Amino acid sequence: MTALAIDGKAFAAGLRARVAAAVPAFAAAAGRAPGLAVVLVGEDPASQVYVRSKGKATVEAGMASFEHRLSADTSQDELLGLVARLNADPAVDGVLVQLPLPKQIDEAAVVGSVDPDKDVDGFHVVNAGRLAAGLPGLVPCTPLGCLMLLKDALGDLSGANAVVVGRSNIVGKPMAQLLLQESCTVTIAHSRTRDLPELTRRADILVAAVGRPEMIRGDWIKPGAAVIDVGINRVPDPRPGAAPGKTRLVGDVAFDEAAAVAGHITPVPGGVGPMTIACLLRNTLVAAHRRAGLEPPAGL
Ligand code: NDP
Repeated sequence: MTALAIDGKAFAAGLRARVAAAVPAFAAAAGRAPGLAVVLVGEDPASQVYVRSKGKATVEAGMASFEHRLSADTSQDELLGLVARLNADPAVDGVLVQLPLPKQIDEAAVVGSVDPDKDVDGFHVVNAGRLAAGLPGLVPCTPLGCLMLLKDALGDLSGANAVVVGRSNIVGKPMAQLLLQESCTVTIAHSRTRDLPELTRRADILVAAVGRPEMIRGDWIKPGAAVIDVGINRVPDPRPGAAPGKTRLVGDVAFDEAAAVAGHITPVPGGVGPMTIACLLRNTLVAAHRRAGLEPPAGL
């Protein structure tokens, strides 16, 4: 391996500590701690794990955590009613509805019902528009975390050729916007892109947000490139001696091959993953400051 591994776990721990350190000053100025409300509908096991870790991290940062668990047969109107109450609650700075939602509920309607100034996931079209227009808003946590890791590893990104593989509203598109804001020359690739390896081989910065295990091979990577692997894919564990049915997590990048070529690379797990919750806390702190008419702390 020649690449430097980007330690997302350590960076996320540092960010969480900086957020926690800024909470007492906010509480002194606003007379209350920042508050994050997380809504879970149904019993999806992965969502339950995410919601539990978000609540725990919120409390660890010294913020107020409000958890709302609704049954899988909750109607859209009931959920919209809860979001409206959270939008109106002065103790709540961030409202996050855990996705996916059960099929009787229209996700877009729910995402669109969150007050954009409390939209700590950054999924509301108003925040997508603010990001595209270069206005202050709330930026989706995962791409924001990727950008922080890149800036920490590389410093100034200006002029770099960046290729983002994936064009989802929650990762690929906001990632491309953030890189453009940093004055990168940005290409967005997707399932219809022709000759993807030829394109990625030109990338100084390569962000993979595809959801296909180890799709990006070592010979798709420019020597010395910074590779950010957003993918989280559970696959059967092929290692000799692994118990039958055992699984492991891999990214969208074939790590060992890529690490032999790249300059920097994020591992899976321990790269981008931990940044998502850290950025959620950061967004909650920023939303709280703005709602209270205070300047968000610098350096977050
Ligand atoms: P989506 O499924 O919404 O988007 C995947 C994108 O990849 C699409 O734009 C699709 O193109 C593109 N794509 C699919 N196949 C190919 C291909 N063969 N070649 C090129 N592009 C392709 O996924 P998300 O953006 O939500 O997530 C991407 C990955 O990131 C997943 O593994 C997910 O688990 C992970 N993730 C991790 C997070 C974290 O670390 N905390 C948070 C969010 C996601 P098209 O648009 O043409 O269909």
